Amino acid sequence: MSETNRQGAAAEIIFSGDELLRGDTLNTNQAYLGQRLLDLGIFATHALCVADDLQAMVRAIRASLERHPVILVLSGGLGPTDDDLTREAVEEALGRPLEHREDLFELIRARFVSRGMVMGDSNRKQASIPQGATAIPLTGTAPGFHLQQGDTLVVALPGVPWELQQMWEDTVEPLLRARPEGARAAQTVRRIRTFGIGESTLAETLSEFDWHAPAVTIGTRAHLDGVTVILRGPSAAGGGGGLEAVETRIRAILGERVYSLNDESLAEVVGKLLRRIGCTVAVAESCTGGLVGKRITDMPGSSEYFLGGVTAYDNRIKTEVLGVPADVLAVRGAVSMELAAAMAEGVCRLTGADCALSTTGVAGPGGGSDDKPVGLVYIGSVVKSVTSVERLHFPGQREHIRERAAFAALDLLRRRLLQQPPA
Ligand code: ATP
Ligand code: MG
Repeated sequence: MSETNRQGAAAEIIFSGDELLRGDTLNTNQAYLGQRLLDLGIFATHALCVADDLQAMVRAIRASLERHPVILVLSGGLGPTDDDLTREAVEEALGRPLEHREDLFELIRARFVSRGMVMGDSNRKQASIPQGATAIPLTGTAPGFHLQQGDTLVVALPGVPWELQQMWEDTVEPLLRARPEGARAAQTVRRIRTFGIGESTLAETLSEFDWHAPAVTIGTRAHLDGVTVILRGPSAAGGGGGLEAVETRIRAILGERVYSLNDESLAEVVGKLLRRIGCTVAVAESCTGGLVGKRITDMPGSSEYFLGGVTAYDNRIKTEVLGVPADVLAVRGAVSMELAAAMAEGVCRLTGADCALSTTGVAGPGGGSDDKPVGLVYIGSVVKSVTSVERLHFPGQREHIRERAAFAALDLLRRRLLQQPPA
C-alpha cells in the first residue's frame, strides 16, 4: 500500500498466541482491526505478535502504553486455559488486581447451560477482569473488557475472529466514535474500488494532479480484485472540506474503471446490474475451472440471475457440450479469441441465458509458448446477442492467474452491462 500524509490518532495492537507465531493460524484479526481502525480515521502504528508468555505480554503492554496510543487492542488469550494470559498480563502491567465478577460468572454459566454444556472449573477465571475495567458482553464464552489507562483506551478481545468482530462492532466502535477528540471524529475514510489499472500506474496518475486539499491523504492498495484508492481526511461536514471534492475528481478521472464506492465486490456490482437490466447469465469456463461461477454464486440471491455454467476443460466438452466448431478449435487452438467467443455463444445457446462469460487461457506453470505464453487469457462475453472478447495477460503463478482472470471476467461483464439501458 502506498500512503502519504500520515497523520491523526494512533492505535496499537498486541496479538497473543504461539499459533500465530508458528504460522498455524493466519493473523486475520490484524487485517480486520487495521481496516476497522482506519475506517475511524485511526492509524495502527504498531502491531505485535507475542508468544503465550506472561512476562513477554507484560513488557509488550508497558512498551505500548509508553507511546500513548489512543487505543491499545489486545487480541486473544482470554480463554480458560493456562496459555490464556491476557487478564494476568494486564493485571501486572497496569497494577490493577483481577476482580471476580459474579454477574459475569453467571452470564458465562448461562451460556454453557444454553448450549447444553457443563462449565468447567477453569472457566471460573474468565469471570475475573482487572480493577476498574468494564466487561464487554459475551459473544462466545470469553468475555472481553475495556478500561481507560491514562490517554489510552485498553481493549481486550477474544482471539476467535467472529467473537472479536462482534465485540468490536457492538461495543468498541461506538466507544471510539463517542470519544471527545473532535479532530479524529471528523476524519472520514472513503474507498474507491477500481479494476483494470495497476497500482503503480494509478498512484502515478493520481500524483500528477494538484488536489488543493492538503488535509486529504490519498493511498492505494492492490488486491486480486483491483486497486482500492483510500481517501482519508476531513469531510465537508466536518469543517475542512475537500474529501468529497477529491473523491468526485478521482471518479471523473478514472471513469468506468471505478466499480464501487461502498466496498461492494465485483460480483455484487454485477449482480445488481443484471437485476436492474433484467438479464440472466451463464458461464463457460476453461482455465478458471469454475471460479467465475463460484464468485457469482457467492452472492446470496444470485439464483435470480445465474443460470449455470459448464467447466469445459477438455476440448471434447468444448465441442460436444458447448457446440464450439471443431474447425475453429483445430485452426485457432483452445486458447484463442475465436474460441472464447464460441464458448460464450455456446453456453448462451445451451442455457438460454441473455448474457454469458467465458474464459480460456494458459494458467501454467507448463504449456506456454512464444505466441501463447503462461498468463495469456481470453475472456469472452455475450450481452444480448452481441459478443466481445478481451485478450489479457496476467503475471504470476497459476493460482494468481486464475483468480485474476475470474475477476477480469466479472469486470468485463460489468463494463458491458453499464452500457445497457435499465429494464
Ligand atoms: P478461547 O476461549 O477460544 O481460547 P481466546 O481469547 O483465548 O479464546 P485464543 O486462545 O488466543 O483466544 O484463540 C482462540 C482461537 O482463535 C485460536 O485457536 C485461533 O484459531 C483463533 N485466533 C486467535 N487469534 C487470532 C488472530 N489474530 N487471527 C485469526 N484467528 C485467531
Ligand atoms: Mg485460548
